[in-house]
Amino acid sequence: MIYNVSGLLSGKPGESRQHEIENERLTFGHGGQGQKRSSFTQISGPVRMMKTDRTVLVTADIEAVTHASCSRCLEPATVNVSVALEEEFIPKNADLMGGRKDRSQDEDGFYDPALFIDEQNFLDLREVLGQALTGATQIAPLCKDDCLGICPVCTVNRNEIQCTCAQNSIDPRWEALAGLMVEGAESSG
Ligand SMILES: [Zn+2]
Ligand SMILES: [Zn+2]
Repeated sequence: MIYNVSGLLSGKPGESRQHEIENERLTFGHGGQGQKRSSFTQISGPVRMMKTDRTVLVTADIEAVTHASCSRCLEPATVNVSVALEEEFIPKNADLMGGRKDRSQDEDGFYDPALFIDEQNFLDLREVLGQALTGATQIAPLCKDDCLGICPVCTVNRNEIQCTCAQNSIDPRWEALAGLMVEGAESSG
């Protein structure tokens, strides 16, 4: 996921290159200070790079797989993630851009450091892709769409053990009381 774009940068605006990510893996985030560390596997998809007048426009449709805990039953869950990337990368090496002073020198602070092409003309997609995949990962992943979760009463995993708590969760005495309360509200109103 690191590409040498020297050839592209020395070409004309509008020139493009097509790459393919095939079954790669990426671990994103350092895991410290509350930051989540995410691992993605089976990263695949087309990556297109086009030279604009001052940047390299990267568009990519990426699919990946990550592993998380199911938000209902807490068992390991395999989660599919897909992202459509569209980012402009800015070359630090101004010489290849016709000797012009490039934007990274003018407005350094305005750009994400992940979006710079380094002095050796390597475009590193990992940080941007990691950010995108992490952002696209569901907040509450499920091991399966119809996961039954953990029983709040007896705490068994209801995918594995069919407990009887659910049927008994509404106590008939409370049901009767609820009915009385509705009646009371109606008569007073
Ligand atoms: Zn589950
Ligand atoms: Zn139960």
